[in-house]
Amino acid sequence: MLKTKTKAQAKTNLNYTNKNGYEKISPQELKKIEEICGLYMKFLGSAKTEREAHDEAIKLLEEKGFGNIERFETQKLKLKPGDRIYKSCSGKTLMAVIIGKRPLEEGMHIVGAHIDAPRIDVKQNPLYENGDLALLDTHYYGGIKKYQWVTIPLALHGVFVKPGGEKIKVTVGENPEDPVFCITDLLPHLAQDQMKKALSEGIEGENLDVVAGSVPAADRKIKEKIKQNVLKILNGKYRITEEDFLSAELEFVPSLKPREVGFDKSMITGYGQDDRACAYSALKVLIDLAGTPEYTACALLADKEEIGSVGATGMASNFFENTAAEILNLSVDSYNELKLKRALNNSWMISADVNSLFDPLYPSVSEKKNTAIINHGVCLTKYTGQRGKAGASDANAEFIAQIRRIFDKNKVVWQTGELGKVDQGGGGTIAYLMARYGMQVVDCGVGLLSMHSPMELAGKLDIYMAYKGYLAFLKDARK
Ligand code: MN
Ligand code: MN
Repeated sequence: MLKTKTKAQAKTNLNYTNKNGYEKISPQELKKIEEICGLYMKFLGSAKTEREAHDEAIKLLEEKGFGNIERFETQKLKLKPGDRIYKSCSGKTLMAVIIGKRPLEEGMHIVGAHIDAPRIDVKQNPLYENGDLALLDTHYYGGIKKYQWVTIPLALHGVFVKPGGEKIKVTVGENPEDPVFCITDLLPHLAQDQMKKALSEGIEGENLDVVAGSVPAADRKIKEKIKQNVLKILNGKYRITEEDFLSAELEFVPSLKPREVGFDKSMITGYGQDDRACAYSALKVLIDLAGTPEYTACALLADKEEIGSVGATGMASNFFENTAAEILNLSVDSYNELKLKRALNNSWMISADVNSLFDPLYPSVSEKKNTAIINHGVCLTKYTGQRGKAGASDANAEFIAQIRRIFDKNKVVWQTGELGKVDQGGGGTIAYLMARYGMQVVDCGVGLLSMHSPMELAGKLDIYMAYKGYLAFLKDARK
């Protein structure tokens, strides 16, 4: 005999379905998506290195009333709720904060992303000549598939720093009148040996050298005339010599600009969306956050994530903790370490990093129920890691329930996603480095296709929902 449903059962939806976000949103929201993504594309096209993302972020922060914390330190000013400050770490990592109504000891709400991206770095002694070409020797940065970086137009971004401290900024290959650079590849006619190699070995790391010139200098006595001519051009333009490469940081990145993708213009292709899709959203929410939040709101833009977060500007350094200590010191009458430890322990954090999306061309690497799908919303990732969650900062169910509450209350379109099926591979973010303070941390960010390639692909709705979700998170008064 059939049982009739009780009233409660009739109301309860027993099934969870992960739907396309465009089926859930209002027409007004479509306009917001275009607005945020338009601004994001500008940022992405003009901030191609960690230094540039850092500088662009400071420009945007200062326009909206954020001041350097050093001013408070030197003038012995106290911080009060509503104050907007930032602190830079060596021009590559940045922390921006709006002081909340509650004491810092009760914790912060942090959205932390990274602003470095895989690329090709120039070596310390790079310039040489061979086959009547001048070339720059390189060492790639981050996890790249090397074959993707040959034969595409590259731009050079970076700095030369003279022993006296003078910094000379270099950007070549972004303006239409600029030259670009490239890495050559073998013609198919002569590639029979190369084509037999594994994809990972077809292009070797030492062969990622960049073509930089081919005209000889007029000097008769010089042996390497083409290299000499390049040095002459560099000296004329930047007043540098070959020795100045020793104290330079120069990065080759794709010279291509972000573009809309698809007949419906619903996606964006661009360099460095890992993790500037999340970094821009994190920055933008702090800038857009009106009034004084309940809890101190913080956006972290970190360097060196792609090589393990090590180094002075990586999240494994004490920069975050030290800056939190400075903020506490400027917020209270008497500083003590226990208050700092409580502030860190009581914080909530979204580790804002990208995740992989389901790729219909490569379905076998993922498990579809638990893989993020393009434009299904911002992706919440409980754990990363590899081989049995090793290395994962596995977020607490209690904290995920809080995020669910915040996102659902604010109509954020979101989904969950795992980085590939079990034992397929894996990865990590800065989450575990912040979790060591005892704070609640979960990864949540934009899904990407072609991650770590020269031109990564993201869905516009996902980018907008990251913005919307982070904003709701920073504003939340907790329950
Ligand atoms: Mn990342
Ligand atoms: Mn990455």
